[in-house]
Amino acid sequence: MKRLEALRELGLRVGKLGEPVLAGLDETAAARKALALVSESGATAWTVPERWGGAASDGLCAPDEVSCRAMCALRAPLAYHSAMLDVMLVMQGLGSYSLARAGQPAVCERVLPRVAAGELVAGFGLTEPEAGSDLGMVSTRAEKHGTRWRIRGAKTFISNAGIADVYTLLARTSGEPGDGGKGSLTMFLVRGDAKGLSTRRFEVTSPHPIGDVVLEDVEVPDEERIGAVGGGLEVALGTLGRFRTSVAAAANGFARRALDESLARTSTRQQFGKPLSAFQGLAFDLAEMDTRLRAAELLVEEAANAVDRGERALEEVARAKLFATENASWVCDRAVQHFGGLGVVRGSVVEQLWRDVRALRIYEGTSEIQKLILSRALVARAAGK
Ligand SMILES: Cc1cc2nc3c(=O)[nH]c(=O)nc-3n(C[C@H](O)[C@H](O)[C@H](O)COP(=O)(O)OP(=O)(O)OC[C@H]3O[C@@H](n4cnc5c(N)ncnc54)[C@H](O)[C@@H]3O)c2cc1C
Repeated sequence: MKRLEALRELGLRVGKLGEPVLAGLDETAAARKALALVSESGATAWTVPERWGGAASDGLCAPDEVSCRAMCALRAPLAYHSAMLDVMLVMQGLGSYSLARAGQPAVCERVLPRVAAGELVAGFGLTEPEAGSDLGMVSTRAEKHGTRWRIRGAKTFISNAGIADVYTLLARTSGEPGDGGKGSLTMFLVRGDAKGLSTRRFEVTSPHPIGDVVLEDVEVPDEERIGAVGGGLEVALGTLGRFRTSVAAAANGFARRALDESLARTSTRQQFGKPLSAFQGLAFDLAEMDTRLRAAELLVEEAANAVDRGERALEEVARAKLFATENASWVCDRAVQHFGGLGVVRGSVVEQLWRDVRALRIYEGTSEIQKLILSRALVARAAGK
């Protein structure tokens, strides 16, 4: 499809431009510059539905949706060049989609066009110290006082912590941690500069603005509640379902770069009088990297098509996320091996890719959680349910 091809080219252009510009900037400066680059290019418009000021969907998906194929088309080439460009693009969508999906129209109108333009930075607050894969353990509480909610608790591993202007955030409005979360959790829009909100940044293996968000009686007007009281888990899982395939696409972008780096190195580096690629052990590696990567790309295509058709596509999405992210780690690791000592020199391209790709097997549902989703669906089908 021409539209998707144009988005891939846009991603490559921004990636090529951004890669040298971002190198050497400190994390916050790099994050802000990366967001400026992706928003000036028009890419962030694809993170918000057309209905709320995003890009015209051109039939890729319904006008009140974010196109999964568009996100994948943009993320793979951005990741090829820079993890920071990739994360700053996707967080605009991940951090705002819950609002687009279930927020009150006046709030959507006020916030979402500015997210699409990159004027407001978005964050997504699910994870807590005791609630990771199991969101039923969320203990951050929201209590209603008149027309306002008061939120108290702590979130961790929140991308864009400290730089987000708005967070969509999951809190408990009834029940107790461990109750599974159905009917007892609610999503809210929380402003980054709200009284009582503080953040603490920490570092992960890849350049990625991330940290804790602490909420001490943060007040939110009821109109900034997202969706029904008790409907938060469904909204949060729907958001993950829309964006999870694009994590797989980003993984493929990292892996594609690693394969290209390996091809260049093994074709030119001579040992024992021949280029490394002439040794069958390494040549077979290249063939396997290529084949597995192509399989991952086709799984992403299948899942993204299904999501854009409006299907839940639990199995397709789980397969794509599981295989592409695990495979990308393997491909990047082989690339490090092909570079020998140079592969572990801090800051070399393949060393950076090896670190960049690791977190993708963990966030937005770990590999094990994808296996749970997929195996449950397979077993239920086999049992005729
Ligand atoms: C770079 C990065 C960015 C992130 N950004 C965000 C963000 O913006 N917003 C946000 O809310 N969160 C974010 N996260 C958090 C992320 O979603 C969680 O780390 C993830 O859901 C896993 O939770 P956990 O770390 O608590 O691990 P745990 O849930 O404690 O899991 C630990 C291990 O146990 C396994 N495990 C858990 N349950 C099962 C089971 N039932 N069966 C088999 N194995 C199981 C897991 O697969 C994992 O291997 C981010 C994380 C990272 C690393």
